[in-house]
Amino acid sequence: MSRDELKGLIRTVPDFPSAGIQFRDITTLLAHAEGLAASIDMLAQRAEGLDATKVAGIEARGFIFGTALALRLGVGFVPVRKAGKLPVECIGEDYALEYAEARVELDPSIIEAGDRVLVVDDLLATGGTALAAVRLLRRAGAQVSHALFVIDLPELGGADALSEQGVETLSLVEFA
Ligand code: 5GP
Repeated sequence: MSRDELKGLIRTVPDFPSAGIQFRDITTLLAHAEGLAASIDMLAQRAEGLDATKVAGIEARGFIFGTALALRLGVGFVPVRKAGKLPVECIGEDYALEYAEARVELDPSIIEAGDRVLVVDDLLATGGTALAAVRLLRRAGAQVSHALFVIDLPELGGADALSEQGVETLSLVEFA
């Protein structure tokens, strides 16, 4: 499957979650057997040579792609969770959304010395969410050099924001 065909499986929902936002919805991609398989194949191709020892996925859609990728790479999966979900002592990072604050949390005890962690999410917009995940993972002792996304919205500058923090971005499709 080509990248354009993959892109064609992503549904655009106007005015969600608020007026003027074009929400890029992966539900239609996930439900498509070939599209789902192709998206994991392409993520695995981009992860080649990065020598990751773990994949971290950001709740919730990052769990879907991140877990499949971890299985493919033969490494463990690290959930970066929304606030208040972890049953053990955890570390957290707050970050700004367009009109609100959010927080991601991590159990730092699952990061081992020398871990090279690849961050995965469905979509990169401003980069705020991914950067909060990177800060968390680094606080726990992980090396983080790359982040992988199915979709990049380049006009929102996420790749530059991540690059400024030493994280290179790889993505499968872009929407202008
Ligand atoms: P950022 O923090 O980069 O501004 O926003 C990215 C986060 O918001 C990701 O966790 C992503 O799942 C979610 N997100 C924002 N806009 C969209 C969208 O249009 N489609 C999808 N699937 N997720 C979005």
